[in-house]
Amino acid sequence: MYFKPFTEIKMILIKTIHELTILLEIERQQNRSIGFVPTMGALHAGHLALLNAAKLQAGCSVCSIFVNPTQFNNAHDFEKYPITIEKDIDMLEANGCDILFLPPITEIYPEHHRTKIYDLGYIETVLEGTFRPGHYQGVCQVVDKLLSIVAPDKLFLGQKDYQQCMVIRKMLEIEPHIAEVVIVPTVREADGLAMSSRNLRLNIQQREKAVLVSRTLFNIKETFKPGPTDQLQSSAVEALVSHGFKPDYVAIADAVTLEPIGNWNGNTPAVALIAAYMDDIRLIDNVLLN
Ligand code: AMP
Repeated sequence: MYFKPFTEIKMILIKTIHELTILLEIERQQNRSIGFVPTMGALHAGHLALLNAAKLQAGCSVCSIFVNPTQFNNAHDFEKYPITIEKDIDMLEANGCDILFLPPITEIYPEHHRTKIYDLGYIETVLEGTFRPGHYQGVCQVVDKLLSIVAPDKLFLGQKDYQQCMVIRKMLEIEPHIAEVVIVPTVREADGLAMSSRNLRLNIQQREKAVLVSRTLFNIKETFKPGPTDQLQSSAVEALVSHGFKPDYVAIADAVTLEPIGNWNGNTPAVALIAAYMDDIRLIDNVLLN
């Protein structure tokens, strides 16, 4: 077995809140700002883009890996969630992460923890909220908890999960965290497929077809113009269905509120979002339209 010499080990791996708190206090005393990247592991270049942004914009980069059970509304999806922890640790270390927080479940949800309910309003009732009830409450529980532990200056989130970014911004209006949200553009494979940990579950045939999600979004972007949007959305659904997808939604929405745009005025910032099943694998993606 090969062990790296101690001098080559740059990243510190921490499993307890207590140790992390001590370490981050030292960072703050050295006047280093903290950039935080929460993840569920099975890391890819999309996660690394968040880490790179954190390294550029903060003095100390902290990544967490925690597969949060409370945000899975489907037990099968949770069981099948890919775990590649050794590879993840190597990737983070090779890409200059300063601290990896890898908590066991008892650190995040101790036996008598109190489940908070977040008043997120409209934004958690639409799109993902409709098809994954409770999902964003689970996301807020874990992000709120991680933010109270890490107390970062900046929180780095991927545009890939667009609604999640908007939900977390809303949560930050309610909860007293100092973190500023930085949204990092979606990293894509060469053919346009948005990188995602779930892509690991696609077989060769599914992977070939999966590119249609991003292609459909780019088609919407190319043809988007002021006026009614229904035709654009229904042709997108047809294209997906004809290639064997089961779409949960194809939506054109206000990029801030996520309210549907039925008739675009040519000015409102807009986003197109898709969630669709390829067999039992659910893919989501989005593009900003203007
Ligand atoms: P996850 O591990 O899937 O919970 O994702 C952790 C963070 O990485 C979230 O902020 C995601 O939005 C972000 N992320 C996931 N995939 C991508 C991607 N392809 N490009 C940019 N960010 C991503």
